[in-house]
Amino acid sequence: MSAIPPIDLTQQFQSIQDEVGAAVMQVLASGQYINGPLVETFANAFGAYVGTSECVVCNSGTDALYLALRALNIGPGDEVITSPFTFIATAEMISAAGATPVFVDIDLSTFNLDVHKLEQAITEKTRAIMPVHLFGQPIDMAAVMAVAERYQIAVIEDCAQSTGARWGEQQVGSIGHVGAFSFFPTKNLGGCGDGGALTTNDPAIAESARVIREHGSRVRYYHETVGINSRLDVLQAAILQIKLRYLDEWNARRTAVAEEYERLLAPIPGVITPQTIAGGTPVWNQYTIRLEAAAADGAVRDRIRQHMQTQGVLPMVYYPLPLHQQPVYAHLGYQPGSLPVSEQAARQVLSLPMFPELSLDQQAKVVYSLKEALVQAVH
Ligand SMILES: *Cc1c(COP(=O)(O)O)cnc(C)c1O
Repeated sequence: MSAIPPIDLTQQFQSIQDEVGAAVMQVLASGQYINGPLVETFANAFGAYVGTSECVVCNSGTDALYLALRALNIGPGDEVITSPFTFIATAEMISAAGATPVFVDIDLSTFNLDVHKLEQAITEKTRAIMPVHLFGQPIDMAAVMAVAERYQIAVIEDCAQSTGARWGEQQVGSIGHVGAFSFFPTKNLGGCGDGGALTTNDPAIAESARVIREHGSRVRYYHETVGINSRLDVLQAAILQIKLRYLDEWNARRTAVAEEYERLLAPIPGVITPQTIAGGTPVWNQYTIRLEAAAADGAVRDRIRQHMQTQGVLPMVYYPLPLHQQPVYAHLGYQPGSLPVSEQAARQVLSLPMFPELSLDQQAKVVYSLKEALVQAVH
């Protein structure tokens, strides 16, 4: 039996290859590869899906975060509160904008920012909170918005792993002041290359993001601010436009996979399955468990992972080192133990293979190899 990869993009492509192939050929034949109506059509469709009046598409989720910060005029001297337990891009773009990330610890049951710890991190310099809906799990946006309103600061939702997730009736990315999405191939809505989008209901933020996206220019060859080049390719827009129609179906499949994992894993001692907060509808970009045996020592988790790998099951570790402990942020002065919950999560997490096409047989094999690995690890 062949290995079970963490993610398999080939099956999904096979299911839509005729449509995608035709759309790609049309773009190639058109001679228009940058900007134009196809890109605008996709931007409008994606904004409508998220439920915001404005959508600015760009070259990556990383750029969407950067554009959001710049459009809000956040820069040197400013602080932005975010999670240390996320992909580097979240904090990295705060730094790239010239501001300083302030890390607040997470809630162990959801891996998202601990909303009870936000307020104590706010200073005179705080300009925004950047929550991450990690692994497709929405954070309690009511709690985040309440703190932001009390202190008159902005909320930028990092939705890179949560396209289609809902908080109450609303899609993530439509609740804060700005949402940032990624269309990296492994995300819930993934292109065949890089891509991203910024969503907002504020036309001024959208306009500013559009200007910064195109070299700080409204009129070609006239530049009013320092910008970047961050367009979404026409090819990617054409592909994403097709895939957007299947997103809810694929997310429903991910939910079914998560339910099956829950059923199989619930009886196993020492395995803590993912939690969803009341009011949240997750989309399972990852299915991430915690291993009790690794609470104090991440090497236990690594051994369990290695054992599974020898059985042809390839789980992932998102993320092995929290951002406050990364060399790039050494200058911020955090110490081991500064954010103990994130550090514990980093030792314990294991993300099981998760993609819409994962079969019941494959899931059974994943869980069987985990069970065997657990027995080995404690002996
Ligand atoms: C993927 C990801 C990003 C960056 O998206 P890219 O499109 O890869 O630049 C940002 N934040 C989080 C949480 C992500 O998972």
